[in-house]
Amino acid sequence: RKLNVALCGLGRYANVLRSGFAESRYCRLAGIVTGTPAKAAQWQQDYKLADRNVYSYQTFDQLKNNPDIDLVYITLPNGMHKEYTIRAAQAGKHVIVEKPMAFTVRDCQDMIDACQKAGVQLAVGYRLHYEPHHSELMRLGQQNIFGPVRLIDASLGYQLAGTPPNDWHLKKSLAGGGPLMNLGVYCVQSGRYVLGEEPLSVTAQYGPVTMPSLFKEVEENITWQLTFPGGAVCTSATTSNCNIDRFYAAADNGFFELNPALSYGPFKGRSSQGPFNFPVVNQQAALLDDIGRHILEKKPLPSHIAGIEGLKDMRVIEGIYRAADTGSKIILPQG
Ligand code: NAD
Repeated sequence: RKLNVALCGLGRYANVLRSGFAESRYCRLAGIVTGTPAKAAQWQQDYKLADRNVYSYQTFDQLKNNPDIDLVYITLPNGMHKEYTIRAAQAGKHVIVEKPMAFTVRDCQDMIDACQKAGVQLAVGYRLHYEPHHSELMRLGQQNIFGPVRLIDASLGYQLAGTPPNDWHLKKSLAGGGPLMNLGVYCVQSGRYVLGEEPLSVTAQYGPVTMPSLFKEVEENITWQLTFPGGAVCTSATTSNCNIDRFYAAADNGFFELNPALSYGPFKGRSSQGPFNFPVVNQQAALLDDIGRHILEKKPLPSHIAGIEGLKDMRVIEGIYRAADTGSKIILPQG
């Protein structure tokens, strides 16, 4: 059988997930949660959803009476992730929550605790763990294929000029922060999974605000430097005033890089031994399948996709903001 998934929040990423469901062997789109009747009608028609599997934010908690739904996939603005994860857990449903998991380490822990208490599993939608170029970066870095990695440069940014000023990405209460929350989380992740280590300390700097009418509540751009136990430094920038999407790792006996690197792809990469040649995969389908298979087999989710991974990233993100706010080097909590 397939795991029955309800999508909560039918915006841009929910639409990206359509192709993931189309290719998934272990997950089926079986329900929706939306505040917009026109979207409800469209999705209900597209997926032949029964009326009883269509929810609004007001009727969300009634999911607990619906055995047709096994898991809720939360694709709401960041500021709603915590509340809806906890409510889904209390309704007895497994959860996939999009990145960034929440705004603080404390919130992430509350979400993990709520899922544990309810006996449901919690995953974060970290799709790049299912992408072969990234698996190769992990292999090259974690196995020291070119010797120890000394320096990583990982940056992701999009030009947001022209964004409507009321877009939720610009609101602190819904986004939690600027590009660091939305994009920088991928840079933090890539440093952690390529080195297979947790960073020790961070320094960070906010950049200039070039679009003051948009960036009143959240940062427009930020750069940071992480040190790792093995001696590597990971330097990153995330920005809303230009397009950048790259990863470069310099090791003692060579290098490896992707460009584009952290967006949806398709990715292009090479090492000092030559170009990469990996297939394009449907990252969303691969993620749904890994999660679906584990839950159907009643096995714990692999740690790279579980809630704890989102918490570990948030530890670093909290540290980056603290370092930029104070101008001081911040020692990151371990464990
Ligand atoms: P979006 O604005 O396109 O969609 C958000 C949805 O939430 C909309 O359907 C909107 O109607 C609904 N919503 C409900 N209450 C709302 C409120 N109070 N304010 C605003 N919207 C409300 O956003 P998106 O780009 O789909 O992002 C959703 C989540 O998915 C974010 O957490 C984002 O970080 C994540 N995301 C992940 C990826 C990825 O590659 N994994 C890519 C894009 C977005």
